[in-house]
Amino acid sequence: MALNRNWSKTSMCTGSEGQVGTVSEPAAEQTMDRGKPAPAADATLVDDLVTANHILFNHGVVDAFGHVSVRHDKAPDRFLLARNLAPALVTPDDILEFDLDGNPLAARGRPVYLERFIHGEIYRARPDVVAVVHSHAPAVVPFGAVSSQPLMPIWHMSGFLGEGVPVFEIRDSAGPGSDLLIRSGDLGVALAESLGTSSVVLMRGHGATVVGSNLKQAVFRAVYTQMNAELQLQAKILGAATFLNAQEAAATTVSVGSQIDRAWDMWARQAGSNNP
Ligand SMILES: [Zn+2]
Repeated sequence: MALNRNWSKTSMCTGSEGQVGTVSEPAAEQTMDRGKPAPAADATLVDDLVTANHILFNHGVVDAFGHVSVRHDKAPDRFLLARNLAPALVTPDDILEFDLDGNPLAARGRPVYLERFIHGEIYRARPDVVAVVHSHAPAVVPFGAVSSQPLMPIWHMSGFLGEGVPVFEIRDSAGPGSDLLIRSGDLGVALAESLGTSSVVLMRGHGATVVGSNLKQAVFRAVYTQMNAELQLQAKILGAATFLNAQEAAATTVSVGSQIDRAWDMWARQAGSNNP
């Protein structure tokens, strides 16, 4: 595993998810296992999920916080997600199985991510979704906070944003005093409703959640959502931007979408994966 990102770039994020769960650190959770595990997931899928964690870290989408999951290949009502751990440090042994309510099947007491409800409720609401990336990617946060500036596709690499990027306002569900985290199934449902049929939902004051019809697509879209946000902000400095229109967005989603393996193979190699 190659941790080749500039660590100094991560200093902006101060969220508390991912910390080891204790009473004094309430943003992680130790919870009881429930139910019977499904047959073991394909080892390649587990390896790819580990690689996805490392790729997202290398691209600054996640730092010590944030997480990526994939739907279980043998049980569509289950998903795979790391135990409570910084994404760059995830290994195959850290991958756990969860049901859609966010209950681990065999965590054996290991702390789990508090915001696992993001994943379970999106998988429940969207049968087409096979992978979910949740991050606090700094570049997208301004677009969640400034309602007059929606995130829009500024180049061909992110045509998938053309279907619209909703912003989740947690105050509508949790009231005015929450810690912004998706810490319950109800909040997960509200987030999934806000996502609707889109690929990306911004979360005001928090970050973003990106979905895909497979793991590589979700990772690809998370990386290019972040890049799009950076470019859109730069264009705003220059003047009024011309964004992709609906037809261009649809066309580029198809053409660029056919090249995802090319990016994944390179990124996996950079991440030191043995399974590019
Ligand atoms: Zn979060």
